[in-house]
Amino acid sequence: MAKYVFGVDIGGTTVKIGIFTDDGKLLDKWEIPTRTDEGGKYILSDIAESVEDRRVEMGIDKKDVLGVGMGVPGPVRADGTVLRCVNLGWGIFNVEEELSKLTGYVVKAGNDANMAALGEMWQGGGKGHRNIVMVTLGTGVGGGIIINGKMISGVNGAGGEIGHICVNDSETEKCGCGNTGCLEQYTSATGIVRSANILLNTTDKPSKLRTVQYISAKEIFDAAKDGDELAASLVENHGKVLGKALAQIACVVDPEIFVIGGGVSRAGDILVDTTKKYFLEYAFHACRTTQFALATLGNDAGIYGGACSIITK
Ligand SMILES: [Zn+2]
Repeated sequence: MAKYVFGVDIGGTTVKIGIFTDDGKLLDKWEIPTRTDEGGKYILSDIAESVEDRRVEMGIDKKDVLGVGMGVPGPVRADGTVLRCVNLGWGIFNVEEELSKLTGYVVKAGNDANMAALGEMWQGGGKGHRNIVMVTLGTGVGGGIIINGKMISGVNGAGGEIGHICVNDSETEKCGCGNTGCLEQYTSATGIVRSANILLNTTDKPSKLRTVQYISAKEIFDAAKDGDELAASLVENHGKVLGKALAQIACVVDPEIFVIGGGVSRAGDILVDTTKKYFLEYAFHACRTTQFALATLGNDAGIYGGACSIITK
């Protein structure tokens, strides 16, 4: 008899919801708006209603639903307590208990980046592994650490916040988190563009990037693939900073595989190859066989992870 799970990924503007079979097949996915007004007090009831509507529409018996797993854009403790999600207007409360009360289902909540890592482990780039570290290189740098199939949330919900490892003591610009020299400042999509602009403004080196009005991460990686030396040096430096940071993470959690996702990961093999090259340069000898892969689930990683958190609960 088939069993079902719901995966939910709450974003600042929309909530993504998916219904899965317990063996990992996505049957359907949809989005509802995130109502952030009045302290975000309608968000969970909107989710509860949408999930129940879809269950009834699909003719699924309530007892065949194993639960709802949910990614939240902020720190979440292992017990389901959110510690202020600024984007949603939420304060401190237990989201698992609240949504469980509204739906009658088992609910598991986690930070959205941790949930994405769980999703990639279940059905994405980390499939077949139980110990993975995922790095998401988007506007910022997110991360998720899964050990023995369980996410590491940490005491303050900050487990897996890889983007805020300090990698440069001499940085003067501040990171979004308030510290300076964070990994995010160099390896996110905005980070590599920032590095490009600094290099273009402080040197006379020729580069096709000089003819581009608004440089993006994609243009830097594309120019590097085309043999542009300045762009290639940016990609090398990106791989060095990231590879070195991952070598340090490997000393702590020793995963089977690093899965790299987010917009920057669309650069593909060149990103994996340079990161791995520098990882090998800095890695502790026992961690040198760690594998690297690109994420494959894209924006669906969060809903996959939500569903997986119920299966492995
Ligand atoms: Zn930071």
